[in-house]
Amino acid sequence: MSLTARRVLDLPPYMFAEIDRVKRRMLDEGHRLLDFGVGDPDQPTPPFIVEAMIEAARLPRHHRYPGYAGMKSFRQAAADWCEKRHGVLADPDSEVLALIGSKEGISHLPLALIDPGDLVLVTDPGYPVYVNSIRFAGGLVALVPLSDENQWLPDLSAIDPALADRARMMIVNYPNNPIGATADREFFERLIAWAKKHDVFLMHDAAYIEVGYDGWRPPSLLSLPGGKDVGIEFHSLSKTFNMTGWRIGFAVGNPEAIKALATVKTQIDSGVFEPVQVAATIAYRQGESALADILAIYQRRRDRLVPALRALGLDAMSPRGAFYIWTRVPAGESSAGFARRLLENSGVVVMPGTGFGARGEGWFRFSLTVADVQIDELLSVLPKALG
Ligand SMILES: *Cc1c(COP(=O)(O)O)cnc(C)c1O
Repeated sequence: MSLTARRVLDLPPYMFAEIDRVKRRMLDEGHRLLDFGVGDPDQPTPPFIVEAMIEAARLPRHHRYPGYAGMKSFRQAAADWCEKRHGVLADPDSEVLALIGSKEGISHLPLALIDPGDLVLVTDPGYPVYVNSIRFAGGLVALVPLSDENQWLPDLSAIDPALADRARMMIVNYPNNPIGATADREFFERLIAWAKKHDVFLMHDAAYIEVGYDGWRPPSLLSLPGGKDVGIEFHSLSKTFNMTGWRIGFAVGNPEAIKALATVKTQIDSGVFEPVQVAATIAYRQGESALADILAIYQRRRDRLVPALRALGLDAMSPRGAFYIWTRVPAGESSAGFARRLLENSGVVVMPGTGFGARGEGWFRFSLTVADVQIDELLSVLPKALG
């Protein structure tokens, strides 16, 4: 018998293992790679946030175990941010919970809400953590396809009502990774009505909610009437303030779900290092102009890359939110085959759509978290690589 547990053995193979192998081999052979694969901001955390962390780290009172739910000052700043940016009113004590990055909360939510055998609807393509954390909790997954024809939104009228009635929860993510698709208020309105009709709880992964372009602000599920009755939303400072390494985010929404998640977490972690919470508090209190600067960089890159890709004959979507360019694979090739060919021919790393689910077949993802000089290089090598 294997030492490793079934739930680990049963995990699907790491989606980019193949790409990673080729990447490592090429690096070993001395090739330079142009990595448009990772969704990790290239820009540093704004200095005023770093300084706040350094100052707080000097104070011994911040060296002890933090509280489980997060500092009141952080939860209040998160609640105020939600009100100011999204028109969402949330009680910082019962409706906001600090997280060690939003991925931590997203992956623990099924343990809080899902019993073995419960059904959860998950969109395909999607962030792989959703499906695997549901399975860890013993839940069952039904995939809801996203497609070009429906603007990459789940077609609620196409979900079998019997399946909807059986489902305990549904997970959505807008602006979306990997697609860059966005949802407007009207979609969330319909989603809430559907959720109420079928008694389905909604989990909205809002990691990119602050990443909207041309002045457009992606809406919060919780800003619509009834949203908080039927939903929880996961926010993160990672993409908002270039803080992926810091590990901080928060959950906001339905107080029973928040309480259940907080209870699970008391048995798993012991909160977020207080200096990180102090820095995050400053980010939410004083960060709006820094955020505008960060968004301007991605918008400029988008406006450069999308037309250039189209001029090369690629069918590239211009995103209204998130920092990905979802692009159709040239006719006759698979996502994995194309990603591999691009890497081997030209050292360009992209994410094959199938890494995010079967419905990603035929597509691949460029990330905009890459310095402008590398975008120049990409555009100089692509014509030959595609040819
Ligand atoms: C980056 C990302 C997250 C997680 O971010 P954290 O750093 O854990 O806050 C969650 N969901 C999606 C879709 C992401 O791309």
